[in-house]
Amino acid sequence: MSNLINQVENLVVAKFGGTSVADFEAMSRCADIVLANPNTRVVVVSASSGVTNLLVELTQANVNDERRLALLKDIAKVQYAIADSLDRPQEVTAQIDQVLSQMAVLSESLLLNRSKAIMDELLSTGEQCSSILFSAVIAQKDQPSQAFDVRQVLRTDSHFGKAEPQIEQIATLAKAKLLPLLSDNIIVTQGFIGADEQGKTTTLGRGGSDYSAALLAEALNAHAVEIWTDVAGIYTTDPRLAPNARPIAEISFNEAAEMATFGAKVLHPATILPAVRQRIQVFVGSSKAPEQGGTWIRHQIEDAPVYRAVALRRDQTLLNLHSLQMLHAQGFLAETFATLARHKISVDLITTSEVNVSLTLDKTGSDSSGQGLLSESLLQELSQHCRVRVEDKLALVAIIGNQIASTAGICSRVFQVLEPHNVRMICQGASPHNLCVLVSESEAADVVNALHQNLFE
Ligand code: ADP
Ligand code: ASP
Ligand code: MG
Repeated sequence: MSNLINQVENLVVAKFGGTSVADFEAMSRCADIVLANPNTRVVVVSASSGVTNLLVELTQANVNDERRLALLKDIAKVQYAIADSLDRPQEVTAQIDQVLSQMAVLSESLLLNRSKAIMDELLSTGEQCSSILFSAVIAQKDQPSQAFDVRQVLRTDSHFGKAEPQIEQIATLAKAKLLPLLSDNIIVTQGFIGADEQGKTTTLGRGGSDYSAALLAEALNAHAVEIWTDVAGIYTTDPRLAPNARPIAEISFNEAAEMATFGAKVLHPATILPAVRQRIQVFVGSSKAPEQGGTWIRHQIEDAPVYRAVALRRDQTLLNLHSLQMLHAQGFLAETFATLARHKISVDLITTSEVNVSLTLDKTGSDSSGQGLLSESLLQELSQHCRVRVEDKLALVAIIGNQIASTAGICSRVFQVLEPHNVRMICQGASPHNLCVLVSESEAADVVNALHQNLFE
């Protein structure tokens, strides 16, 4: 019977981020959001707020035993506080005990073997705890619910720390193992984590739970993905940076993808890809204030303004390469990009002159393994065919919108705002949806605010 089901009609996949599952009250509010819509049958949860940061610290080489035990204790405190607020904590506490003791064993194993596979296994425990607890919170509200180990279906490659999802296999596995469960249960599963072909735990990169939700929605032919977070939608800029930022009611896939790519943390940059492939609409809203509504990300939208939002991505590195070989010659860029690709560095922005190339590096798309992106061996390799200069403490500010490259007057307006600031690099023209400037990290907040004020207020 189960293999006859290919789709649940109007299925909604709802994802709740760290602050939304920070404690029992937050989880209970989120459970109410889930139960308010009978179509929400799949729930994807992040680790409770702060837990992944603590787990990341546990994976660092320099944690001493005292700190290690303190970190384990801090994590346990968060999880037990939620379990203890349940009406019947016993069964859940036993499951949490199990995950926490596994956490302790893994953190100890790392002292002897700093394996990336063990690190991912350790990082996955935060999401495991959340799914057990959230499922119990739903069950307490008299709805059948089941915590489901997403590693059964979210197949990835074995690139620990930044694993690549295997889309077709995820679709096959999700239809076989997850879909049949949806008619009787609300399934609560983990964001951020997956497993490779050997069943080893992998992670998708920080903030990856949004991406997990979109991947599952794609695999299950869902009607919509809901990203419930701590803000009532996507704003004209980060509301933490500009108090006058306004929520956007509706935005296109293209614009949202640009925003996520250029630093709007509200969405993981890869989230939009599965949604675009299957034309699944995405909603972003606040789990604290669902009544405020939020943002719908859709394929087709009514209004496509020239200026949509300003995004900020901090901690940028600029690589400046100088070589006379570039002059009236071929192959210099090919050689440079091949070197960067060998070192698994993804390039973000690029500008060129006669004998110089400047490029910024894309941390999300690169294999940073938690270390600096530019290794000594990469710099040495590049130095063999050009002079290399590295600048950091930079930030990228992106103006996102529509027809930016073909609308008169945009540059003069933007340059007027930027007048008091030193702009290190500008990229404009490649995409109709953005204009980016690289400025010093210390000026970034002022630049965002000035642009926001001029373009939106
Ligand atoms: P979660 O834990 O739910 O995944 P995140 O912290 O990853 O939440 O993302 C939500 C945060 O994204 C907000 O608190 C806000 O500060 C930040 N953010 C950055 N840019 C934007 C934007 N344009 N609109 C809304 N939020 C933004
Ligand atoms: N818990 C993971 C993180 O903090 C994934 C996520 O929350 O999206 O990065
Ligand atoms: Mg997030």
